[in-house]
Amino acid sequence: MEVVAVPALSDNYIWLVHADGHTAVVDPGDGDKALQAAAARGWTIDQILITHWHPDHTAGIPAVVAATGAKVWGPEAERDRFAGLDHGLTDGDRVMIGEEEAEVWAVPGHTLGHIAFVLSGRAFVGDTLFAGGCGRLFEGTPAQMHASLKRLATLPDETILYPAHEYSLSNYRFLAAEAPGDPEVTRRLREIQALRDSGEPTLPTTMGEERRSNLFLRAEDEASFARLRAAKDSFR
Ligand SMILES: [Zn+2]
Repeated sequence: MEVVAVPALSDNYIWLVHADGHTAVVDPGDGDKALQAAAARGWTIDQILITHWHPDHTAGIPAVVAATGAKVWGPEAERDRFAGLDHGLTDGDRVMIGEEEAEVWAVPGHTLGHIAFVLSGRAFVGDTLFAGGCGRLFEGTPAQMHASLKRLATLPDETILYPAHEYSLSNYRFLAAEAPGDPEVTRRLREIQALRDSGEPTLPTTMGEERRSNLFLRAEDEASFARLRAAKDSFR
């Protein structure tokens, strides 16, 4: 399986997943970008996977469908929030990507219907978990997001995580302000800064890395998670 980051809009990543002659696109906020990136590799998109309804994840669906006839899998709970859903998914459903099976996990918080696609050794987590951060609580409660992060944290350390935004630098600047002198945060901020200075994406990340240095994942209880999330919302 080959996974390619396609930068789109201001700070989104669209993920192209190529396996066994099939190509899936995850969260195509920009259809032309996704189509061009696939064509440049000689791939034809035949599957669209959606983590949640926000337009920066779904606006490119019509263009990809028009060009390829690809079918759309996404959260059944958000069927009415975006156009073009063919196969509505709920927690525990399974989707084949080529010969590989992805399990659907409900991870509410950023939106109420948000799902993640969990494969063996990889997870596409949308706007739930970022490098050094987590999604804003547009629809869900801190308790829901805390539970969603705890669930993702059951994945093994070596799991490769594919979030949908390049927010890593601002996330670790916040964490460094929250936990000055934390060795893991300091180390990771330095790595992220070096990657951005050379114009490289900081993603994907791994569960082991996030467990070490992402304070949102390290939050021990709901109250400390809620406090951290609120502090991030007002951090400049
Ligand atoms: Zn979103």
